[in-house]
Parts: sequence; C-alpha cells; structure tokens
Amino acid sequence: MLLVLLIALIVYYTGGTRFSYAHLIYVPIILAAYFYKIKGGVITAVTGGLFLGPFMPLNTDTMVSQGLENWSFRMSMLIIIGAFSGYLFSLLESQLEKVNQIAYYDPETGLPNKIKLKQAMETEIAAENDFYLIILSINNFIDIYKVIGFMNFSNYIKELLQYIKNFKNLKNKIYYINENKYGIILKKEENEELLIYLNKFVEYMDHAVKFNHLSIFNDISLGISNYPEQSQIADELLDQAFVALKKANSKKLQFWQYQQEDSNFKDNNIQILADINQSIINNDFEIYYQPKINLLNNNVETLEALIRWNHPQKGFMSPGKFIPIVEQSSLIEPLTEWVIKQVLSDIDQFNQNKEKENYSIAINISARNLQHPNFAESLIKNLELFKINPERLSLEITETDLILEIKENIKKLQRLKQKGIKIYLDDFGKGYSSLKYLKELPVDYLKIDRYFIKNIGEEKATENIINSIINMAHALDLKVVAEGVETKEQLDFLTGLNCDYAQGYYFARPDTKENIIKWLAEEEKYNFN
Ligand code: C2E
Ligand code: CA
Ligand code: CA
Repeated sequence: MLLVLLIALIVYYTGGTRFSYAHLIYVPIILAAYFYKIKGGVITAVTGGLFLGPFMPLNTDTMVSQGLENWSFRMSMLIIIGAFSGYLFSLLESQLEKVNQIAYYDPETGLPNKIKLKQAMETEIAAENDFYLIILSINNFIDIYKVIGFMNFSNYIKELLQYIKNFKNLKNKIYYINENKYGIILKKEENEELLIYLNKFVEYMDHAVKFNHLSIFNDISLGISNYPEQSQIADELLDQAFVALKKANSKKLQFWQYQQEDSNFKDNNIQILADINQSIINNDFEIYYQPKINLLNNNVETLEALIRWNHPQKGFMSPGKFIPIVEQSSLIEPLTEWVIKQVLSDIDQFNQNKEKENYSIAINISARNLQHPNFAESLIKNLELFKINPERLSLEITETDLILEIKENIKKLQRLKQKGIKIYLDDFGKGYSSLKYLKELPVDYLKIDRYFIKNIGEEKATENIINSIINMAHALDLKVVAEGVETKEQLDFLTGLNCDYAQGYYFARPDTKENIIKWLAEEEKYNFN
C-alpha cells in the first residue's frame, strides 16, 4: 500500500497521469499478486486504480482532471492484470510444490529421499552440529515380500516405519533410500551414548510388527558413520555408513560403526568385476595345481586346478577374494571357460610319459556355470577340440550349489558322467548337508571340508563326525577326499579310518604347473609316512 501511495505521489509531482510514470503502478500490483496471489493482485489494482483515478489530475500544471471512462477503464485493466498474474503465480506455486514433492519425497512412504538426506547432512555440517548417520537395512525384506505379497508390501513398510518412528525421537529423522534401506540422522547432543542408543534400538526392533493378523519379525542391521570424526563430507559419510553396513552383515552383527580400517573393505565389487573382465582379455590369470594323494598307495592320480589372479595394480590375489564376487555375475562364465581351456591345454604336459603317467585334473565350477543351459555341451566340445579324453577331467562343485536346481543339475551331471567325467562334491559338511540328496546326486567323490580336518586331535565330536562321513560315503559307494591336511597326526587319523584320498599343505601346496611337474617327478617325496 505504501508503494502504491509513493507511486501516486510520483505521478502527481511528475505532472499527472498524462505521462508514462503512471505505468509504475504495475509494480506493486504484480508484487502483491506474487505474495498474496489473486486477492492481493485485485485489491492492489483497485487501490492503485483509485489513487490514479478520480483524485489524480490528468495534468498537474493545468489541474485538468481525468474523465470517468478514462480512469475507470484504466482501473478495470489493472484489475484484470492483478487477477490474472495472481492466478498465474498461484498456479506456478502449486506446480513447483508438486515437482518438489516428486523430486524430494518417496511417493509411497512420503519420506524425504536421499537428496534431502544429503541436504540435511550438509546443513548440520555447515552448522557444525555433530551427528551420526545411520543406515538401517531390512535384510529379510524378500521373505516379507513373499509372505505378505507384492500388493501389501508398501502398506507393511508404512506400518513398520510408524513403529520405527515411535522409537524415542525418530519421528522426523528418517529418510528413504530404497525400499529396504533408510537413513537416520542422529544428533549427538540430543542423544545418549551411541552404543546404549543402538542396543536399545536393536532390542526395540526385535519385536514383531503386527500386520493383517500376522506378526512379522524384521531382521535389521545398521551401518553407522560419524561426523566430524570420520569425515566432514556428506557423500563420504554416506559411503562410510554403507561400508559399515556391509561389514555388519558380513560379520553377522546387528550394527557396526565405520572405522578407518574398514576403508579397504570398500574394495568395490563393481571395480573388481570391471578388472576381471579386463584381466580375462589380458590373460592376467594363472592356474596353480595341488595334488591329491591316494592314501592306499601314496600315488597321485589327480590334481586340483586353483585359479590365481595377477592383478595389474593389486598384485597376486587368491580366489577366495574374487570368486565369490564373480560368481554372482555372468562373468563367471567366461572366467570358467578360461580355466577350462587353460587346464585342457596343460593336461598333456602333466602326462608326457604316456606309459607311466595318467594324471587327471579337477576344475572348480560354480552354481552359475552349471545353470547355463549349454554348460555340459560346451565342455564336451572343448574336450573334443583339445583332444582330451574326458576321463582326464573332473569337476568339483559344492553341495549348496548343486541343490539349487537339483533336478536339472542331476540330469546335467549324469550327461557329463556318461562321458567319463568324474564329479567331486566339494566342501562337504560346510553347507546344509542333506543326506536325502546325497543318495540321489550323481557324484563319485566327497571332499570333507577343511574345517573338520583342522579339528582332528582337538575335538572328539569332530573326529566322530569324520568317521561317520567316511562310513556313510563308503556305504553309498563314494570315495572320500580329505581337504586341508597339514599334519602327520591328521594324516594318520584319516588313514586309520580308511579315508581314500588326502590333499593339503602336508603333501604339497598349490603351485605353478612347472613346479608341480617337478614335484611329481621326484618320486621319493611320495613316501609321506
Ligand atoms: P576349494 O575348492 O575348497 O579349494 C581348496 C582351498 O584350500 C584352496 O584355496 C587351497 O589352496 C586351500 N588349501 C589346500 N590345502 C590346504 C591346507 O593344507 N591348508 C590350508 N589352510 N588351505 C589349503 P584357494 O586356492 O585360495 O581357493 C579358494 C577357493 O576358491 C576354492 O576352495 C574354490 O572354491 C575357489 N576356486 C579356486 N579356483 C577356482 C576356479 O577356477 N573356479 C571357481 N569357480 N572357483 C575356484
Ligand atoms: Ca575344490
Ligand atoms: Ca573345498
């Protein structure tokens, strides 16, 4: 209103409405429309119209006044402009609000999303308010999905979030990351000691949440990062909380607070897969071989092929570090193909002396290899291509991997067995060993997991288990291989139980083809007793 008055004065002292200064009146109208929408625009237009209307002369020098139609026409135009711009501004505001809602909030839970989480962290960082960032993961969400169904899942999540919000003062502190991960900003000054808080929270989450007459338990874990101790950058804190979450899960803990040492845990899986791909092309892999000893005559009949990676930057890497990651991706197929071809081209070098030597080689394969519809056929083709008798090749596969698609796998293994390829059931006893399946599986050998062998001489119960495994395997007409034999004591115990084969550092460590060929040639070493 003041602005309207000011403009009226300007118009008056500059000579009246005949000059273009009168157009200044649009400024307060549009401003009022911006702030107060249609109502503001119209009221200001009417007031402005009146101020520039009946009391304002056309020319202050001559004091000639305006005609009625002159100022009333102007006023109607001003009202139209005020109303219309007010309408436009309110439309714009509601649209902006919608865009804002879509960009910053999850539509299903209504929670602010990851962008908001980062903004909120940045605000706290700018104000130097110390806080913890917690990432909460619902680990069993797939199981929950299965039980309550797809349609109900988002309703259930809302119910669960309500339950979480009721814990202490979490109400406005939860952010959506994805359907099973949520971020929480916990200000240090407002809360008790972190450990006490987390323990209470975990205990609180240990209760079932009621949903549609069901009581649903949530298997949760928490990864925590710490501002300012561990980082002063929002992105980095997010990263660290995720690394901590991964570590909590791998250690089967309910929570883990990020520490500097965990940074190597970050060894990004994506990076490993990209490097694997490159290394297949560059031939950065190598096969090591480890002999299996026939305990009846101390002879070596078979060698196990174990892959090694000469990583261009990280150096020598053992398969325990990368195979579990590669197995989750389709890259395990070209990698196994590489191993197969390498082994097939090595076999003849182990068997130079045709009369005396008859070594076969065992390759480790993953569930995903067997699942590939062409695996058996392509293996057989490769054998033909390299002109290798299939009896020279065997496969090692873990029981857990075999049981995944048991009917299909049995068929595939039978096809390979017909050809003469032998099958080892690897890591026996480590997974869910199911005797029911053992009878049906077309395997020839059973490898007792190293864990059991390690406890020989230390745990009577384990020794009894080994005894039972051997007897059971023999009853099913399977030969038994003991893995990881490191001492004479372990060897003697196993020989006493009629274990058929043994493999381990006591005899030979896995080594390059050249070294193992040399080792095999020095026959006196075969006298292990
Ligand atoms: P695995 O099949 O159970 O292989 C036996 C592992 O125990 C090997 O580890 C071997 O070096 C180690 N070992 C042998 N004797 C002893 C011993 O006396 N004491 C101890 N402490 N360890 C012993 P490695 O070579 O690191 O391989 C780890 C795992 O990686 C293998 O376990 C296998 O599951 C997987 N793997 C290795 N090569 C391949 C491959 O070419 N393809 C696939 N899919 N998996 C592979
Ligand atoms: Ca193996
Ligand atoms: Ca094994």
